[in-house]
Amino acid sequence: MLFDNHQRPLNYVRLAVTDRCNLRCFYCMPEEGIRYVAKKELLTFEEIERLVRLLASMGISKVRVTGGEPFVRNDLMKLLRTLTDIPGIEQVHLTTNGVLTAPHVPELKALGIRSVNLSLDTLDKTRFREITRRDEFDRVWRTFESLLEHDIPVKINAVVMDGKNTDDILPLAALTRELPVSVRFIEEMPFNGEGQHYPVLHWTHARILAALKQGYPTLERRPDPPHATAMHYQVPGHLGDIGIIAAFSRTFCGTCNRIRVTAQGELKTCLYDNGVLSLRDLLRMGKTDDELKTSLLESFSQRPRDGFEAESRRTDPAIAESMATIGG
Ligand code: SAM
Ligand code: SF4
Repeated sequence: MLFDNHQRPLNYVRLAVTDRCNLRCFYCMPEEGIRYVAKKELLTFEEIERLVRLLASMGISKVRVTGGEPFVRNDLMKLLRTLTDIPGIEQVHLTTNGVLTAPHVPELKALGIRSVNLSLDTLDKTRFREITRRDEFDRVWRTFESLLEHDIPVKINAVVMDGKNTDDILPLAALTRELPVSVRFIEEMPFNGEGQHYPVLHWTHARILAALKQGYPTLERRPDPPHATAMHYQVPGHLGDIGIIAAFSRTFCGTCNRIRVTAQGELKTCLYDNGVLSLRDLLRMGKTDDELKTSLLESFSQRPRDGFEAESRRTDPAIAESMATIGG
């Protein structure tokens, strides 16, 4: 077992395999996109594999592949085949916007991908185009249907944005009535490539819950699995469940079990830090596994207590990076 300096177990790594994306979500990047890193600056598949093998030997057992849009990276399925084969990696999960995903769903099932988080902020095609600045709702919906058909557990991620999709909270929650899906509402964070969108966050977890309770007065709190970031709820009688993720209010740091590796191979021990170690540089300097391990353990022993401490320690205090470089 791997522990940090606050005695929190670490067993989960989130890998952003690219910062490139085929959508331009309002909350993630500006309309013109972000300045993508040069391809040679991305970790190669071989580097990712070496890193994940090492992390698995240290106690990491769960991997989430994210991005940018992971399916924009050439040959993503090849990487997924490799990762699902690494001894010690018990679970591989995926986060995707669903635009290019549907044709791969049968192989995702065959590989045993544990669950897929699908980003979908609205059920309205026009609003989808306004939020993502691309007309791709139908392909995303096809992915959703295919995941359900193949019995792959699906979580829908919806970022709640003031003045953009708050009318979608109840329709999205209504999906849980007939479908075995988890719909998670996420507080908007300032990782949009530009900085804050609002002077204060209007749609906090408390306000999202109040909106849900207006539509579903019988909504019940459910126990949260260990290390969950979402607060779980269910409407009695509904097949699926509902989560609220206080990503900006940061209520879940006390049980955080995750680390992140950005597309450029930067280690993040908190979502709100701006990178604590360049794993890519170490890999490319020819460091041995033991040397890499020593550097990783040193970073794990200096983890901030919570996202507020991480933010206060940033070398670049303004949060203006895009979530596409971090992976969510
Ligand atoms: N492109 C994939 C997708 O959209 O699912 C994977 C990467 S995306 C950066 C991962 C998650 O981060 C998505 O669920 C997205 O909704 C969420 N996200 C992006 N920007 C965010 C922000 N500013 N605040 C909260 N969540 C955000
Ligand atoms: Fe792309 Fe995902 Fe960011 Fe949307 S949230 S722009 S789909 S990386």
